[in-house]
Amino acid sequence: MRVLLKLSGELLAGRRPPIDWEAFSFHAREIAAASREAEIAVVVGGGNILRGARTPVPATGHVMGMLATVINALALRDALRDAGKEARVLSALPVPGVAGAVDQWEARDALAAGEVVILAGGTGLPYVTTDTAAVLRALALGAELVLKGSKVEGVFTADPAEDPGAEFIPRLTHAEYLSRGLRVLDPAAVQIAAEHGLPIVVFRADREGALRAALHGEIGSRIG
Ligand code: UDP
Repeated sequence: MRVLLKLSGELLAGRRPPIDWEAFSFHAREIAAASREAEIAVVVGGGNILRGARTPVPATGHVMGMLATVINALALRDALRDAGKEARVLSALPVPGVAGAVDQWEARDALAAGEVVILAGGTGLPYVTTDTAAVLRALALGAELVLKGSKVEGVFTADPAEDPGAEFIPRLTHAEYLSRGLRVLDPAAVQIAAEHGLPIVVFRADREGALRAALHGEIGSRIG
């Protein structure tokens, strides 16, 4: 089984933003444990370092956000190697000598050989999010599931941080997610996943064993 894990910058910020080494090493251990059961590609966000930078040319701010994901990817690679797991970084915005360009065939071979592949730089294009990158990379790499790590248990009827009456939704279709105007995951990403029948599981990722439990369908909300 091949899956794509999306880790947001918010998760990587842990308790000591912007880069909490404890959070990186926690997620690295989670990935290393789950990689005994599945091939895992990871798309990292960048919101812990930079989001919505107001630059005179908006696209520049988006590129800065994408570069932030490269920083997170490098840190996650080191954390994975520390946890005894081989990992490589491929970037939509390559940094020569540091992070090579995304090559989907190289990524597929590395995954099949048991390596974790960290995909940095989002899509490489401004105005979209790393959630969209996660869905597109999952499709390109033939992953059968997207696992979206979150700070909340899954999909709720409203944002549980703002509405204490928000109800957990264990299972819903892509169309239901989109028509309810939910925001835990970028709707643009869900739209693309819907078109290709790609399921997404949103789960609370900051607890030990959560990634394996999500992989087994024991926790989280399943879209599709
Ligand atoms: N971004 C972009 N294109 C992409 C992915 C990301 O322009 O393909 C920019 C966008 O400005 C975004 C920022 O990088 O706000 C950081 O990504 P994101 O907000 O998805 O990170 P996360 O919320 O997951 O930490």
